[in-house]
Amino acid sequence: MDLIEVKSTTKLKKEVHLPDIAFQAFVLAGAGIKVRKCFLAHINNEFVRHGAIDPQKFFTLEEVTAQVSVLSREFEEQLDAMQRIIGATAHPEIQIGPHCDDPYTCPLHERCWSFLPESNVFTLYRDGKNSFALLKQGIQHLEEIPADFALTDNQAIQRTASREFLRVTYGQVTAAECRRVRQHLEEYCGLDTMGMVQIAGALTKLTA
Ligand code: SF4
Repeated sequence: MDLIEVKSTTKLKKEVHLPDIAFQAFVLAGAGIKVRKCFLAHINNEFVRHGAIDPQKFFTLEEVTAQVSVLSREFEEQLDAMQRIIGATAHPEIQIGPHCDDPYTCPLHERCWSFLPESNVFTLYRDGKNSFALLKQGIQHLEEIPADFALTDNQAIQRTASREFLRVTYGQVTAAECRRVRQHLEEYCGLDTMGMVQIAGALTKLTA
């Protein structure tokens, strides 16, 4: 038989689709079913509908037999590790990271990321790797980002706004005090960063 994996994508994504097809080919072979060729059927983005949809033209068949056969052989070596993970009674201690959204957002994302405060380093405007680098250093809150840490102009405004609110409201405070105050405001007053910035602005005017 030929194995055809149908995906609602317009092109082959090697790191996602190939292991998927390879695993199915591996299972079929293990069940004694001989797989002749493997294909990915994806949407032909040049298809224009005239009347009834012609599936032959709507889908593009891309043969992936050679790549799949290499990956299928590798599964054999990984079986023990897979069984160990399936049989584990506790989850491994893995920190959050770019893997949580790559290639897809993990279903446990909300749960694993829930320890972060509302105004956390991942709210930095258009951030790339900075947030993870900061988290690795134990920095979660915007106001804790060191002054010498390179940020874009917009991100620096976020840091300043966050610090400024606490400075205006509570005077010069340490990073630990900032954190405590921030937590109280978030937890008990339900304020987000914008709310805090607005209050800071109003207080600045009052005290000017
Ligand atoms: S969100 Fe998913 S990928 Fe990220 S740490 Fe949690 S379980 Fe792992």
